[in-house]
Amino acid sequence: MTAILGAGISGLSAGYYALENPKIGPLVILEASNRVGGWIHSIKQPDGTIFEKGPRIIRANSYNVLDLIEQLKLTAKVIPIQSNHPAAKNRYIYADNVLHCLPNSLKNMVTKNTLLNRSISSIIWNDLNTKKVSKDDESIHSFIERRFGKDVSEKVVAPILCGICGGDIHKLSAKSVMTSLFEAEQNYGSVLKGLLQQKLLNALNKKNEKEIKSRISDDTKSTVKSKNMPSHLVKRAKHESWRIWGLQGGFEQLPQALTKNITKRGVNIKMKHNCEQLIFNKDNVELIVNGKTEKYSRVISSLPAKNLANLVKEQHPELSKELSSIPTVTIAVVNLQFSGNVLPVNAFGVLIPPKEEIPILGIIFDSCALPQNSKMTVLTVMMGGAWFEKYFGDCSSQEHLRRIAIKYVNEILCINGDPKGCVALHTML
Ligand SMILES: Cc1cc2nc3c(=O)[nH]c(=O)nc-3n(C[C@H](O)[C@H](O)[C@H](O)COP(=O)(O)OP(=O)(O)OC[C@H]3O[C@@H](n4cnc5c(N)ncnc54)[C@H](O)[C@@H]3O)c2cc1C
Repeated sequence: MTAILGAGISGLSAGYYALENPKIGPLVILEASNRVGGWIHSIKQPDGTIFEKGPRIIRANSYNVLDLIEQLKLTAKVIPIQSNHPAAKNRYIYADNVLHCLPNSLKNMVTKNTLLNRSISSIIWNDLNTKKVSKDDESIHSFIERRFGKDVSEKVVAPILCGICGGDIHKLSAKSVMTSLFEAEQNYGSVLKGLLQQKLLNALNKKNEKEIKSRISDDTKSTVKSKNMPSHLVKRAKHESWRIWGLQGGFEQLPQALTKNITKRGVNIKMKHNCEQLIFNKDNVELIVNGKTEKYSRVISSLPAKNLANLVKEQHPELSKELSSIPTVTIAVVNLQFSGNVLPVNAFGVLIPPKEEIPILGIIFDSCALPQNSKMTVLTVMMGGAWFEKYFGDCSSQEHLRRIAIKYVNEILCINGDPKGCVALHTML
């Protein structure tokens, strides 16, 4: 029997795909809390409005997720967002008390943008005319500053990273986080040249693949085809130029549908089962769960590194140390609901560069991307991240988080008045 630790999206999908492998045998998922989904958590308000505490939007080129959505029969709930929709096109940066739209058209590429006071073409020129420096790795800040300029690093890349993971670009590794850009410079001397070469190589590889396929027998062809056939949803996403998509009724429906599917197929999901220790023996793995010993033939962990570190501390102290040393940050998430459309612009949202020295990382305009009720504006404010201690170290009560979120939403988006609804929560990333 195989045990999967954690019933977040990773644990549930590990269960879903492990069912395809007959060698894995019976499956048990152990979940410490009383709900599935982990960070994916949609909270329904008394008036039916959904507040998302975690992810809500997925990029349309994540084809495997679209395949999964179709297999789980969630297709009817998908809200596609095409590339010409304001939520797909418009992203703002708040700097020097102004909202600046990031360039989103060819025209905007050659004209000066208000955020940097120069055009994208001048940034490209920078990269093409900067000599390569051989490096094993460096911080994102150092890499972007070298290739494109300090302004791009501080005003564009820093806030984007805040929106993705709440991280500080002075500490994040360029090689790990922007591998293709970093390798483009190392292999081809410039980021742009490298990316273009890479594109060319990919196109050539695709052409070769097509030629090889045309030479294989019809029998083999039909087997390969049926295995690798893109789902209807993937074909639709490509045909209709989807950029991103969400789920009507909340993103938590994905883990819920996965749970229903795998439970029906025999997976036993045990809630309130906290795994406290792992002991690897020659023939089995012993798990201490809620103080009792259980034995499994193998274990798949989907736990955050810090949680797994505690479990292996006694038997593998070195591994435990490695896992504990992976840095995490705390992000406060505050959902707000206002009556009427109070947004000054239609967009995915706004990000704030850390150099602005305010505790907000970004604000997502949920009701622009995924409207639930035309008479409401729904926003998600993300705060803290790498700067959580600095801004909230002394006081991180829900009331304080709520007050700070409302203060800055009013200031940044020029919204007067209090929200109709609000939920605050903070979480480790
Ligand atoms: C505000 C926010 C917005 C985000 N937006 C996006 C987005 O737009 N797109 C995107 O792709 N990603 C987004 N993410 C990231 C995404 O949410 C996570 O990467 C993903 O949900 C992680 O899933 P997981 O299953 O790996 O971990 P988790 O969701 O953390 O699940 C781990 C599970 O393990 C359980 N557990 C922990 N310890 C034990 C133990 N000892 N024994 C048993 N069970 C245990 C926990 O209770 C939990 O249920 C966002 C995250 C946040 C916080």
